Amino acid sequence: MEGALTARDRVGIQDFVLLDTHTSENAFLDNLKKRFNEDLIYTYIGTLLVSVNPYKQLDIYSKKQMDIYMGVNFFELPPHIYALADNAYHTMLAEANNHFILISGESGAGKTEASKKILQYYAVSCPSVSPMDRVRDRMLLSNPVLEAFGNAKTLKNDNSSRFGKYMDIQFDIQGEAVGGHILSYLLEKSRVVHQNQGERNFHIFYQLVEGGEEDLLRQLGLESNSQHYSYLVKGQCANMTSVNDQNDWRTVRNALSSIEFDNGDIQDLFGVIASVLHLGNVQFESDNKGNAKLNNSAELRWLLGVSVQVLQEGLTYRKIEANTDEVLSPFTVDYATYARDALAKAIYGRAFTWLVNKINESMENKVSRHSNFEQFCINYCNEKLQQLFIQLTLKSEQEEYEAEGIGWEPVQFFNNKIICDLVEEKHRGIISLLDEECLRPGEATDLTFLERLEEKMGSHPHFVTHKLADKTTRKTLERGDFRLLHYAGEVTYCVVGFLDKNNDLLYRNIKDVMRESKNAIVRESRRPSTAIFNNLRVLLPACFMCTHTPGRFDDSLVLHQVKYLGLTEHLRVRRAGFAYRRRYEVFLQRYKPLCPATWPHWKGLPADGVEVLVRHLGYQPDEYKMGRTKIFIRHPRTLFATEDAFEI
Ligand code: ATP
Ligand code: MG
Repeated sequence: MEGALTARDRVGIQDFVLLDTHTSENAFLDNLKKRFNEDLIYTYIGTLLVSVNPYKQLDIYSKKQMDIYMGVNFFELPPHIYALADNAYHTMLAEANNHFILISGESGAGKTEASKKILQYYAVSCPSVSPMDRVRDRMLLSNPVLEAFGNAKTLKNDNSSRFGKYMDIQFDIQGEAVGGHILSYLLEKSRVVHQNQGERNFHIFYQLVEGGEEDLLRQLGLESNSQHYSYLVKGQCANMTSVNDQNDWRTVRNALSSIEFDNGDIQDLFGVIASVLHLGNVQFESDNKGNAKLNNSAELRWLLGVSVQVLQEGLTYRKIEANTDEVLSPFTVDYATYARDALAKAIYGRAFTWLVNKINESMENKVSRHSNFEQFCINYCNEKLQQLFIQLTLKSEQEEYEAEGIGWEPVQFFNNKIICDLVEEKHRGIISLLDEECLRPGEATDLTFLERLEEKMGSHPHFVTHKLADKTTRKTLERGDFRLLHYAGEVTYCVVGFLDKNNDLLYRNIKDVMRESKNAIVRESRRPSTAIFNNLRVLLPACFMCTHTPGRFDDSLVLHQVKYLGLTEHLRVRRAGFAYRRRYEVFLQRYKPLCPATWPHWKGLPADGVEVLVRHLGYQPDEYKMGRTKIFIRHPRTLFATEDAFEI
């Protein structure tokens, strides 16, 4: 026993549910730390996986490791992202229903890496009729492409995803991947024209400029030096050591060719990227009337497919319709610059949407025509994701006990719905109010928007401004600020620029310019589809936490995330409750061979059959509960013993 205790002291416990001590945040942290120091980055809370970013390569993602996890009972092996992936896959096949893995955590926590590990696992473990599996290969290849166009260096993460992604894989009845679909949302387009100190634009710009073949660059009129482009040097860190733009260029270029992008597509795509760079170098100066004029139109020549004159006009004049006449009203330099940036953001945004659509076409399920891809949608920001997480785990967990009539003392948790509503509620949420203000051009300003917020939000517990704050808080707020109490903590926003940024609506004449382009991507305007996120349930949500320096465990950073992800509340719910549950039919079907009274057929109600079965197996009364439709089992070892009984 002593030996076992020592080992446990050293490496911690692999499932928090089994932690003897009380479930304080410190005990939680302590266990994570012990494991982290032994390079054990994964820990379960029942079926939830907690991962701590090691920031160093661990030898736990080899083919050999994958083999170990394939088809093995979830709790028989040490916690791993592969166990999570494998379990979701097998349960999906066994129960023939949709499954969903939710990955959440702060920037740099390892979400993107985790999703890639899951994909790699499926690529190796799922059966495949042909060695050149179209869907599987494309799904893997789409990653570097999407990362090139949608990821960028930020202060928190050198490869930070600047868009949300929902990926959907369709399997056929044999478990082969037959289709895939990616839904992207909320691309951070403002990054195209501005980056904060120490941050970069999207990777693809640097890859093209630093890695692009001579011929291609000549054709696009680009110099092979990122320092030359004003959109690439705002954060003053165009070159960085952790990223090799030249190598990445080759990876992206090859991937594009492999996923059915023909030469025309590729020309159009990089035509847009180059156009954005040229556009960024277009400068305006003021003529003697204070109107903007281009001080050098050389760069414009490279904007593919649009005549210099049309573009020049579009950038320096606004078309106003007065009765039946069209009047050209000149821009000031500031307006012209704004119009230029708006155009750059818009064409980049379109290129991204177009790219995702192309990837989707290439992964489309060609076998079944009943595609239900469009049902799946998460169009939420982080707050929304967190809400989903709460709803699908904490809330549904407790509701299930209630629905099944199992005695239960509710555990309190913080539900962030109130904050989501504050942001998105129709007619009164912040977004609605902002939209309304944007519809009053000329009258509305950032400050009138703030006043509207103060009027509507007044006493909201998660919203405060200088005017609304009490004396002490007021000292920490400027007049143009508002503060939201997000689930992850307080954030103060300066209202300046809100209207402009929301005003993604391009000036109409710029839209006309775009419509005239010979470049198909610029010309076409397709909005990303938003569909209803439906018919999904969380099987195995995963949450991820991070530390930054290799091998270093940052207590306060991890503790912060333990808190805001509500992990100890999760643990309490899990511990007090029943970690494992099965519908009576499913349970009976699986274990009926273990009892003479239920084998080969049980004639009565499934619930009665299960009762007979578990008594025969010697389940102790406090080990399980019978709900209305399901059996609830407190501890994994009970289920293991039952599984093991098969082998005897
Ligand atoms: P963001 O929200 O900014 O997109 P993220 O959660 O997607 O962040 P990742 O890009 O997945 O974070 O991870 C950041 C970095 O951490 C990776 O580039 C990699 O260096 C390291 N990392 C993440 N997960 C692992 C892992 N399992 N093993 C080793 N290193 C990892
Ligand atoms: Mg990411």
